[in-house]
Amino acid sequence: MTITHPASTDEATAFSPGRLFIDGVWREASDGGRTDIIAPATGQKITDVARATVQDVDDAVAAARRAFDSGIWSGLSSRERARILQRAYDLIRERSEDLAQAESIDVGKPIMLARVVDVNNAAELYEYYASLGHHLDGEVREITADAHAFVTNEPYGVVAAITPFNFPLILSSSKIAPALIAGNTIVHKPAGETPLSALLIADILHEAGVPAGVFNVVTGSGATIGDHLVGHPDVDKVAFTGSTEIGAHAAALAGQTRKPFTAELGGNAANILFADADLDTAIHTIISAFVFNAGQFCMAGPRLLVERPLYETVLGILEQAVPHVPFGDITDPDTVIGPLASRVQLEKVRDMVDRARAAGARVVTGGAPVPRDGGFFYAPTVLADVAADAEIVIEEVFGPVLTVQPFDTEDEAIALANGTRYGLASGIQTSDLAKAHRVARRLHAGITWVNGWAILDPAISFGGVKDSGWGREGGPEAMASYQKSHSIVINLAQGVGR
Ligand code: NAP
Repeated sequence: MTITHPASTDEATAFSPGRLFIDGVWREASDGGRTDIIAPATGQKITDVARATVQDVDDAVAAARRAFDSGIWSGLSSRERARILQRAYDLIRERSEDLAQAESIDVGKPIMLARVVDVNNAAELYEYYASLGHHLDGEVREITADAHAFVTNEPYGVVAAITPFNFPLILSSSKIAPALIAGNTIVHKPAGETPLSALLIADILHEAGVPAGVFNVVTGSGATIGDHLVGHPDVDKVAFTGSTEIGAHAAALAGQTRKPFTAELGGNAANILFADADLDTAIHTIISAFVFNAGQFCMAGPRLLVERPLYETVLGILEQAVPHVPFGDITDPDTVIGPLASRVQLEKVRDMVDRARAAGARVVTGGAPVPRDGGFFYAPTVLADVAADAEIVIEEVFGPVLTVQPFDTEDEAIALANGTRYGLASGIQTSDLAKAHRVARRLHAGITWVNGWAILDPAISFGGVKDSGWGREGGPEAMASYQKSHSIVINLAQGVGR
């Protein structure tokens, strides 16, 4: 792993990829505990990092609380904060290869994906929210009383930002950048398995000029420190991305401690292929929608719904094409599909596919782990003849697995698409624009792509409905979720200020 250590003469603040970042200082866990970090491509240890304790969480929250209450960050003008975020953008660009290498080895992402998707998107999130910092205006409201009424948008205070293993850099950036520009301070807990890019970002934010205590990182196990962080009385808001089950647990805890909570949870999107679509383009979209990030993408398209006349044709094309998607060596710039991020994830995917096969699914291609260098590889898999209520269809697989179901009518396609407890993303492949509009409005999802997939941008929000959560990331919507409105009414009739 090649990580550049910036020159520093101060031992405490010199960058260390394996320590906690609390109050502007790199330090060990209070009990000295460490966690091994495993490379998914080889199953071998890459490095180890500090394993935060409840005491460390208390210290991080206390640092964030002090920093917030001091006004060292919230008291800056939003334009001053924007300049610092813009500097962070520049530093991410300067250190893009370090970030890409860390993300690739830690998550098992093909290096090209880490460079083109993860690092670029993360950088652009800082740039975008820096730009919003130039327009953080309140609003004057016309009211009937003889008074001057206006609404300001204020930061909540201390934000706990909790992220999952699959897109550590993008998902941390999509919380950190809007929370910071709004004036909050942060305690960030990345996924226990994939913490490396969060530590690089801490170093970058420090170098960019984010004051001590404003951004803190605690690496460690959610099972040990998660509840403590979410329920902490000095945390004012929780932003959570992860599984529906842990999200529901954390939301309940936040509710008990009366905190606003945004939840970006699981997904299981349907991709509807109508017979009038441009088939060549659609096939490319269908494949990339389910193999992207080895299927470990909350907005992946693992459920393909095909208008019946095309059903067997599409299965035949997928059978031929999918095995040719470049697979394996994550250091090869041509590789598209790498390993799953952990042995646990590999076993989960393997077991779900095995159960689907036992229940009668037809394996069109794939259907098994691929032994390779000790890594957690699973062959890209297409399954046909699956029941609409089969586990493999209605539950989130989070691996490179596509189920294919036929439909006869638009209504049936919509019913199948909406037939799971999730509602994060969806897709429609058609050349009929009126149909695209009609169907898109009836899909239960926070985002719908027509004739494409995963077209994302910091300016576009996404998020879930139903069991996929209720937060929004991206766009002004995400920034608003880190602000509380404050109405101020100045009674002019009583002579205030006279
Ligand atoms: P996860 O197991 O729910 O973990 C998410 C985060 O929560 C991790 O940092 C985890 O820490 C932490 N955590 C665990 N127990 C906790 C507790 N009791 N209190 C607070 N935090 C706790 O999810 P994952 O397996 O990492 O990620 C995959 C899931 O995330 C999938 O369901 C995927 O769809 C979803 N996801 C959703 C979005 C979206 O935008 N909607 C985006 C990406 C992923 P540890 O890692 O240390 O356990």
